Amino acid sequence: MKILYVTREANPFAASGGLGDVMGALPAAVAAVPGNECEVILPLYNSVKPEVRAKMQLVLDMSFNHAWRNTGASVYKLDNNGVTYYFVENHYYFDRGRLYGEFDDAERFAFFSRAVVEYMLHSGNIPDILHANDWQTAPAIIYLKTQYAHIDALKKVKTVYTIHNIEYQGKFGSHILGDVFGLDSMYRGVVDYDGCINLMKGAIVSSDFITTVSPNYACELEHDFFAFGLSSIIRGARYKMRGVINGIDYNYFSPEKGGDIYASYNNRTYKSGKAKNKAALQAEVGLPQEPSVPLIVMITRFASQKGIDLVLHIMDELLCENVQVIVLGTGEKEYEDAFRAMEWRHPNFKALIKFDRVISKKMYAGADIFLMPSKSEPCGLAQMIACSYGTIPIVRSVGGLYDSIRTYGEEGANGFRFDNYNAHELLFTIKDALELYKTPKKWNELTAAAKKSNFTWENSAKEYISIYNNLI
Ligand code: ADP
Repeated sequence: MKILYVTREANPFAASGGLGDVMGALPAAVAAVPGNECEVILPLYNSVKPEVRAKMQLVLDMSFNHAWRNTGASVYKLDNNGVTYYFVENHYYFDRGRLYGEFDDAERFAFFSRAVVEYMLHSGNIPDILHANDWQTAPAIIYLKTQYAHIDALKKVKTVYTIHNIEYQGKFGSHILGDVFGLDSMYRGVVDYDGCINLMKGAIVSSDFITTVSPNYACELEHDFFAFGLSSIIRGARYKMRGVINGIDYNYFSPEKGGDIYASYNNRTYKSGKAKNKAALQAEVGLPQEPSVPLIVMITRFASQKGIDLVLHIMDELLCENVQVIVLGTGEKEYEDAFRAMEWRHPNFKALIKFDRVISKKMYAGADIFLMPSKSEPCGLAQMIACSYGTIPIVRSVGGLYDSIRTYGEEGANGFRFDNYNAHELLFTIKDALELYKTPKKWNELTAAAKKSNFTWENSAKEYISIYNNLI
């Protein structure tokens, strides 16, 4: 089975967030299962490092029509981790210094999506499965199922579309259908939704199968609160939809291998290793080195989706307890300011307002408790990373947090969960955890269970393979 993943980003070549991690790991995990051949295609951005660029091999130059333009691209390839990565080069669209967020993103990614379909035709390298992600590559599926549907060579290609976050749908004014997307008005019905072009909606109705990044999020998307206007479309597509939870990279987030943390540790040396990391972290951020005071951390984008309002509401009360708290993040200014102000009021609180992967790993390793009280959470990786370091996550029962964390007292518990989007429910759950922390034997059992949680990509790959197999 040959699978072609279409993506705007992939680690380690170009990444700005979670999708980059997924496209760096999932294809390799699928390709590791005998009988599967995986390829990934993405734009060749000028931010790709020159030494990586130098290793690429030219596959073909092609020209094609897109809307009223005669345009073209070169396609390069590079093997990495058992997967072939193809890069679409077009200097006008992709030499921008950043991956997306440009005024002409609609045009850039419409071009890229068409280039993917044209590449299949020009090269004859036609996959059994085309797997597109997020709105930027949704047009690849839409083109395949509309303008290119009559081409025999492409008829066997089955399509899978993954929604990583339904908030970002690719909505544009209806008037650019022809000029920018190169679609005739006869196809307007495919992408039209709520008075505008909605690329995610177009891919949902056109694709053979849809996935999203956790089973619980897949259910939540049927409800207006979570679906950002697409709930009725999701309900209509329910028959071809499944949630598959993401995994994490255990090589990168590994207390055993150490990496950026102060001292490596394994299951056997957990207690002493944790203590060393905690003491060094307290010293680095300027908190008193108190081994027995529970250290609570939060590492997140400062966005309302992440439940920051709940945290701010109870923080003064929480910091009156015998605890230390460190928050690492960047984002909305009002949140950054609120945390800065909190640091002035409480000597047991530190706010690190920056994006810093190294200190984030030190925090996962040094903390006792990890907070993640999200309002919505398609999958969430941070709670899984916390578990891998034996740090107890406290999460809200939403999206992938519900699927990955079992609450204390339940079978297979690896953390604490609370249900309602209510600040004091969060506070009382933290207090439950602090109570348990006072009984080291029980606490250590829970941290050992958290550390054993299995969030490997192999599990997700198996589910995707079964979806691909069913389709063909
Ligand atoms: P989302 O993708 O919605 O931001 P996830 O939990 O899926 O949330 O992934 C967040 C990832 O980004 C985690 O690996 C987390 O450690 C990392 N992260 C978030 N904020 C920061 C920061 N300020 N510095 C370093 N890493 C961060």
